[in-house]
Amino acid sequence: MGNWKLHGSLDAIDQFANTWRGLALSPSVEVVICVPAPYFLHVRQQLPELGLGAQDCSAHESGAFTGEMSAQMLFDVGCRWVIVGHSERRLYHDETDSQVAAKASVAQKAGLHSVVCCGETLAQRQSGQQLAVVEAQLKASLASVALDKLIIAYEPVWAIGTGLVASPKQAEEMHLAIRGWLTELYGTEGISVPLLYGGSVKAESAGDLFACDNIDGALVGGASLEAESLAGIVEAA
Ligand code: PEP
Repeated sequence: MGNWKLHGSLDAIDQFANTWRGLALSPSVEVVICVPAPYFLHVRQQLPELGLGAQDCSAHESGAFTGEMSAQMLFDVGCRWVIVGHSERRLYHDETDSQVAAKASVAQKAGLHSVVCCGETLAQRQSGQQLAVVEAQLKASLASVALDKLIIAYEPVWAIGTGLVASPKQAEEMHLAIRGWLTELYGTEGISVPLLYGGSVKAESAGDLFACDNIDGALVGGASLEAESLAGIVEAA
């Protein structure tokens, strides 16, 4: 799953689409890109073979909330996935776990897959608190969230956009723990929730991450902006 963040233009999408169409990639890997909202329709037209996602949604279904986009509107224009609780939203927009949970619930109600993000900061990892921090964050971000169409992305904050990737051992340790917490929350069905790793994933690091038992895919920022680099990750999958 690619996350274009605040990047892109009509020209860049056309170039991406031209290159993507020339690549012979396995159709067995599901590829989704989460693009800025003004480009949803253009991406849908140019890249119909890719799943379309949004990077955020409102916690409200409708109403006087200027500047917000509802999950239902996202579904209406072709999105089938939405990222909620990305660390950049938590950091720059002060999003709380309970807001993240409200967004995930409203997204599920609208028929979207919600990709709920969690992850520790560098200071929290260095002080050995990562498991406790992520457990608390994840459980609070899933309060009253149903299992249906739920996806979790573990994204250590220190690895996002920094070029530092969690080692497969670090990522797998956390993913295994997340599976356990999901089982506590949802019973045995929690085992089937897809778990994505995110944080500076590139084609070169993707293979070793995907080889881990509990890593089902990746949430990719920078490397999803170019068709070739995203394709390298898809090939590794
Ligand atoms: C992200 O935006 O979720 C992300 C993981 O970014 P990057 O791959 O650039 O670290």
